[in-house]
Amino acid sequence: MTLIKESFQRLFPEREFKYKTYLEYNRRLGNFNANIKYDYNKISIHLNLQWKDIEDEIKIGLIQTLLVKVFKTKKRQTSNINLYNNFIKNIPTLTEKIHSNPILESSFHRVNNGFFFNQIEKPNLKWGTDSRRKLASYNFHDDTVTVSTIFKESREELLDYLMYHELLHKYHKFNHKNGRSFFHTKQFKADENLYPDKEALEREISKIIRNSRVPKKKELFSFFK
Ligand SMILES: [Zn+2]
Repeated sequence: MTLIKESFQRLFPEREFKYKTYLEYNRRLGNFNANIKYDYNKISIHLNLQWKDIEDEIKIGLIQTLLVKVFKTKKRQTSNINLYNNFIKNIPTLTEKIHSNPILESSFHRVNNGFFFNQIEKPNLKWGTDSRRKLASYNFHDDTVTVSTIFKESREELLDYLMYHELLHKYHKFNHKNGRSFFHTKQFKADENLYPDKEALEREISKIIRNSRVPKKKELFSFFK
């Protein structure tokens, strides 16, 4: 039995499996990334080569997560999906740190020291593009905080506030329920609200977004994902 078929049958035991399957490992996808295509009764899955050495039980959880997306059925949770999510949460500790930058690194140390008792292991840190839509993000797959370059010149208080938000993601990880991941949980928001002068900082950030070059309409203010 192929891994895709096995994953499907454990996820949808009541359904008949009538698909062709194709599973490929490649180097093109990002760190621990994967994608799925489904058309004409063929299910194709591409996995980053790193998945090759990972236990099948975890891979089944990954494939089931992809299947839930593509079949848009009533969400369901399996023990494999739980295994997979726990695995994802631990990727940051396994990930090699290759990206850093002196400005972001200083910000990381200030925030880690000021708010996390230096408990957070330094993630990869890098500047992104000049995006005004995605100001900063934390990616569990490669343990990377990325910050929009529109903050390169801004005062450190603003950068630290963005850094705080992203490190909270690393700290809280995420909750998983019924096939969905929740990042901005109640606990997350409670911690976020502890940040001093949060409202004033957010106003200042909105101003930077408005004043940054090439004003575009309809862009939303959002922090993550
Ligand atoms: Zn966020």
